[in-house]
Amino acid sequence: MQDYRQLFQRQSTTWPLAEKNYQALSEVVFKDLTIDHIRIRLQFNPGRMTSSAADTSKDAIRARPCFLCAKNRPSEQESLTFKAENASISEFQILVNPFPVFPQHFTIASTEHQLQAIHGNFKSFLQLGKSMEDCVIFYNGPRCGASAPDHLHFQAGSKGLMPLESDYGQWKKTLIWKGQDISVSKMEGLLRNGWVMEGPDSTELTEAFEQLLDLLKSENPASTEEPMVNLLCWYQNENWICLIFPRKAHRPKCYFKDDDTRLLISPAAVEMGGLMVAARREDFDKIGEKEIREIYGDVSVSEKEIDLISKKFKERKP
Ligand SMILES: [Zn+2]
Repeated sequence: MQDYRQLFQRQSTTWPLAEKNYQALSEVVFKDLTIDHIRIRLQFNPGRMTSSAADTSKDAIRARPCFLCAKNRPSEQESLTFKAENASISEFQILVNPFPVFPQHFTIASTEHQLQAIHGNFKSFLQLGKSMEDCVIFYNGPRCGASAPDHLHFQAGSKGLMPLESDYGQWKKTLIWKGQDISVSKMEGLLRNGWVMEGPDSTELTEAFEQLLDLLKSENPASTEEPMVNLLCWYQNENWICLIFPRKAHRPKCYFKDDDTRLLISPAAVEMGGLMVAARREDFDKIGEKEIREIYGDVSVSEKEIDLISKKFKERKP
């Protein structure tokens, strides 16, 4: 595989839109907050306005040409083929994201136009983590952050920017299950809830993930849609680390306010990872501990629900 870093180097210096936006990114403002010993990083990034305010309703999606399909992409946007092994979708294209949050930011789109879904594609997600070793790979479910819910895709961003990744080992987790080579733990005291899976065996990790997803689905059997989840994974010391964040809402209550308490924050995997992206300066200035607690409380499932599913996971039959 031709190196994705070369693709980045080329695109960020020869594609004017990407060049301009990556240059602008070097001037974005950051602010760190510490709440209950947990670090949250805020980024003021006006380039993300389109994404934060995106209308991802079914009607809006149907009405626009899909920007991840090769035929609709800007002519300057190059791609690199990524072949996944033993996956239901075998081929992806790595693209440089021209609206970055990270110093290197990629979108990895399926070659075919097909619905955003994690079932059957988790192994490809892990393989990307191993192949793009200086990046964190992330997945946003079709109803909780994906800007193209109709076209299967992942994203990848430079390591070192999301607190839960860069502070890994410093925040608490409680083991709930140990497999042959992998462990599944519950996140503790992070203001948002979820699980951490860790280990060197991608097959075992995939099985455990699919079982957790099935259990989440069984909580809402009438729904035909995928349970809302945001996922992060990265590869270090020959292990994958995967963070799973089940969601109960796409956007927090503050997003829908019509007074000056409105915050245009639309949390997806990056925000669950601890990097809050504010496209408006006023939101960046306004967000403090109270707002962070409310945002996570509004979109993350409760600890009670995580405990319930963890219990079912431990008691499941092999
Ligand atoms: Zn498409």
